Amino acid sequence: MKVTEHIKKHQGKTQFSFEIIPPKKGNHIQDLYDNIDPLMEFNPPFIDVTTSREEHVYIDKGNGLLDRKITRMRPGTVGICAAIKHKYNVDTIPHVLCGGFTKEETEYLLVDCHYLGIENVMALRGDAMSHQKYFEASKGGHQYATELVGQIQNLNQGKYLHDVIEANHNTDFCIGVAGYPEKHIEAPSLQTDLRRLKEKVDAGADYVVTQMFFDNQKYFEFVKAAKEIGIDVPILPGIKPLAIQRHLQLLPQVFKIDLPEPLITEVEKCKTNAAVRQVGVEWAIQQSKELMQAGVPVLHYYSMGKSSNIKAIAKAVF
Ligand code: FAD
Repeated sequence: MKVTEHIKKHQGKTQFSFEIIPPKKGNHIQDLYDNIDPLMEFNPPFIDVTTSREEHVYIDKGNGLLDRKITRMRPGTVGICAAIKHKYNVDTIPHVLCGGFTKEETEYLLVDCHYLGIENVMALRGDAMSHQKYFEASKGGHQYATELVGQIQNLNQGKYLHDVIEANHNTDFCIGVAGYPEKHIEAPSLQTDLRRLKEKVDAGADYVVTQMFFDNQKYFEFVKAAKEIGIDVPILPGIKPLAIQRHLQLLPQVFKIDLPEPLITEVEKCKTNAAVRQVGVEWAIQQSKELMQAGVPVLHYYSMGKSSNIKAIAKAVF
């Protein structure tokens, strides 16, 4: 079922969903199942599976030298989506990236998703590789998520890249895109970034999932501003519980988000990461309860592959 249909079906009742990361290659999928199992009692209508682009890895040659290779360390998003869908009978959403993929490769991936009965995809640009200052599109790939949304919409109308319209073989993907309540790191202003979001919606995006935020006011203002410029699709809040002391520096640095003073104060009082984890869970519970009261259709949690803190939050909220 499409995300938009899940939302319509459960109108007035906030649903629980979460995002997982594929295991590093060489690891068993059982690790993933062990983290999904405890969350299934909260009946997620859908589970997102992230995609990682290629990265540099350094292989010790044993003679004091390192070999540098470019590889994707966490492949298998579509396979994992199919496996989870089959095992738990739940909708799964593969994240589809511009970065590291040509349009042809994207088309093949979307065709696979269609064959597997996957009805939703999350269309994202992805980030620059670690050695790049700015994002660079792959040769034959897309520069912005808007273009990727356009490609998926074309496929929904049966328009394949080889310029033949296969009207009987069109896909029917529901498309999610990313939104940034505190603006995307590269955007010159929140207003400009919102206009870019509107372009993604105009290109055919059906819903938005937000970047993590720790101050609900930021989300409420974002949704209001989005509505004011005509973005009328559901905007699902993304919630991440803070888990380690280092997150105080790391999250603002990586995602350009602000952490509220009371949260910083509580984390600074903690003597162990276990205590930080508890503070993170309690903060996320308060955030979730307020968002639920405000009537958000879905609370979407960034699990980062670990379920224990997400379970503690879900238990208190759902
Ligand atoms: P875009 O919408 O393309 O925007 C990127 C930047 O370009 C923004 O600053 C925007 O304002 C600007 N822009 C857009 N269009 C134009 C234009 N026409 N001209 C000039 N500027 C423009 N990353 C992963 O690698 N894998 C994942 O699985 C993943 N999942 C995510 C899930 C969510 C919910 C979120 C919020 C992020 C996720 N990301 C993921 C991170 C995402 O890839 C990065 O934040 C990336 O830097 C931007 O992606 P985007 O789709 O928002 O890009």
